[in-house]
Amino acid sequence: MTKTILITGGSRGIGSATAVLFAQKGWNVAISFVGNQESADETCAKCERVGFTGNAFARKCDVRDEDSVVAFFAATRERFGAIDAVVNNAGIVAPQSTLAEMTADRMKAVFDTNVLGAYLVAREAARTVSSGGAIVNVSSVAAKLGSPGEYVDYAGSKGAVDSLTIGLSKELGPKGIRVNAVRPGIIDTDIHGSVGRPERVTEIGPACPLGRPGQADEVAQSIYWLISDDASYVTGSLLDVSGGR
Ligand code: NAP
Repeated sequence: MTKTILITGGSRGIGSATAVLFAQKGWNVAISFVGNQESADETCAKCERVGFTGNAFARKCDVRDEDSVVAFFAATRERFGAIDAVVNNAGIVAPQSTLAEMTADRMKAVFDTNVLGAYLVAREAARTVSSGGAIVNVSSVAAKLGSPGEYVDYAGSKGAVDSLTIGLSKELGPKGIRVNAVRPGIIDTDIHGSVGRPERVTEIGPACPLGRPGQADEVAQSIYWLISDDASYVTGSLLDVSGGR
């Protein structure tokens, strides 16, 4: 039977690459966007090109909003039936700043999306993913690096995602559901340009041990492995996909 994956923030970047990879592997794919419907529709079209007709759908879902998250899961079940896997991917950064210069509003915006949003999505996943299924949270190596002078709020939000991964893996292990995280390093997506620093990819990427930034596809492959049966004894793991950073 065809399996179904739900991906938050599947319109662009890592989420979009993950959607296309799962479609290529024969899965049904439900993706969400918050503002960018055109990109979400493009991702769905790519999924249908590499997969099969009708295998993808996109829905607006703001992960900061509980009703919106619940409705996205419900719409996915209505469309495809049981949900076998969830990628908890939607996330934001804020402009480069020291902590001393950060406003409370900016920190709240980061925590609302990256912490509250990730926890709401994980909660719905815990309620709906079938036994034998898997959840992957998209954290960041920022959780261990701390991102000084750039965004320690973002780093802390991803630290929360790591703790969520460890705790939820212990809650859901006995139910036969695996929970892991990927921690990307510098990946070439829109997220850097979204806060006015597209050059971050070419500045910091070459300085990591593998000497280059990563691509969204490379993170997608790691997510695919964590969800696949090849990772059947892996849970509670935080997998760095960071070129050694
Ligand atoms: P991206 O290209 O900027 O895409 C972000 C995605 O999240 C978009 O689909 C966006 O939807 C969605 N989104 C943003 N706010 C949302 C909200 N409130 N509710 C629902 N969806 C929302 O980012 P990316 O680089 O692929 O990042 C994906 C994940 O990887 C994030 O959690 C990020 O922290 C993490 N990560 C990225 C890097 C990196 O270097 N790129 C490194 C480490 C970790 P719209 O298209 O509608 O705006």
